[in-house]
Amino acid sequence: MSSHGTTPHHAAQRDAGLSGAGTNLDPWYDLYADRTAGLSASEVRALFAVASRPEVVSLAGGMPFVSALPSELIAGAFERMMRDVGPQALQYGSGQGVPALREHILEIMALEGIRASVDDVVVTTGSQHALELVTKLFINPGDVVLAEGPSYVTAMVVFNSFQADIQHVPMDEHGLIPEALREAITRLRAAGKAIKFLYTVPTFSNPAGVTLSWERRLEILEICRSNGILVLEDNPYGLIYFDSPPPQAMRSVEEDGVIYLGTFSKTLAPGFRVGWALAPHAIREKLILANEAAVLSPSSFSQLMITEYLNTADWKEQINTFRGIYRDRRDAMLGALAEYLPQLSWTVPNGGFYVWATLPSHLDSKAMLPRAVKELVAYTPGTAFYADGNGRNNIRLSFCYPTPDFIREGIRRLSTVINGEIDL
Ligand code: PMP
Repeated sequence: MSSHGTTPHHAAQRDAGLSGAGTNLDPWYDLYADRTAGLSASEVRALFAVASRPEVVSLAGGMPFVSALPSELIAGAFERMMRDVGPQALQYGSGQGVPALREHILEIMALEGIRASVDDVVVTTGSQHALELVTKLFINPGDVVLAEGPSYVTAMVVFNSFQADIQHVPMDEHGLIPEALREAITRLRAAGKAIKFLYTVPTFSNPAGVTLSWERRLEILEICRSNGILVLEDNPYGLIYFDSPPPQAMRSVEEDGVIYLGTFSKTLAPGFRVGWALAPHAIREKLILANEAAVLSPSSFSQLMITEYLNTADWKEQINTFRGIYRDRRDAMLGALAEYLPQLSWTVPNGGFYVWATLPSHLDSKAMLPRAVKELVAYTPGTAFYADGNGRNNIRLSFCYPTPDFIREGIRRLSTVINGEIDL
């Protein structure tokens, strides 16, 4: 495709503000690759910069509450690591990741019913990078990625950057709807589309906060298997449950057709930037090569720090501590919603970081956001989680970061905004 400024994607770039809010201030504008068309700094992003002021209660981001991690645990692991394997920590490593860490990863995945070989694990720079690598391996421009509606926003940024055609499949309070998946596959195939994979966050989804039931997991795996479609199971939150453990991972049932992604970002800390992919044998080889092409090797330093932490700390107890903290915050949010905004409906998550709320149908959550920020509360508008403009009257509310008191105050402020809109 031409790289001149007249192609449709360049028009889209201009509209999206990539070249300087439509005024084409960027001298390199004509040189960008077609795949950058989706890389636009949204207005929502600009508002979030304002929302990061301390007086604003942000229910918008998804930052784990890392202050709950005792710093002496990390400092101790650092000292021992430098003493025992310092030169290795400071050196390049294997493109697949440190073997001892991959052993631990097997132990962690076993908690969700997954059995695998240490050879099948590829360590990545957060699961975000695994999303990028998998997409790079499979997506040609125009290929279909099936994705839950709503879906994790930054996965869609990746899919867009490889010019995928994102097609949403609806979900309800039990997760993705199998019948809707069947219907979408039939419709898209009839239109001659190449469907590569189904992207799903089946447990404590981001943003919907819902969990795919066990029966549906089996049904969806069967639909994908019989249609030759890979399942990309993204599971950052599975161990952060509040009441009872969720159903086991989809990968626990099906080995050949599932690429499973995990991360230390929620059970330990995102600053290490360590996640992993567990892939069927053939794909795993390509993933390692793609990983090497992108980063040579994932950070030896981070991997050895985490290995030392897992060797010596009571990491299961630490996950319990996180569960308790997030459970209190979830309870604070659900309690405040019931008290201040009974006219809304919302999901009730049994884990993870998010509640998905539905506003009265005449309200536009994106248009309302500047008024919310003025009232010193922020949320993420629902449209961010759809590739097709849906979600106008939805909002994602994160309960992971603010304290319970701030969450209550944030919902109270939000009620002032929403009630003000309703009264108009
Ligand atoms: N997938 C989902 C669903 C997420 O919510 C996140 C983090 N917000 C990620 C992937 C990326 O996590 P990381 O790169 O920190 O492992």
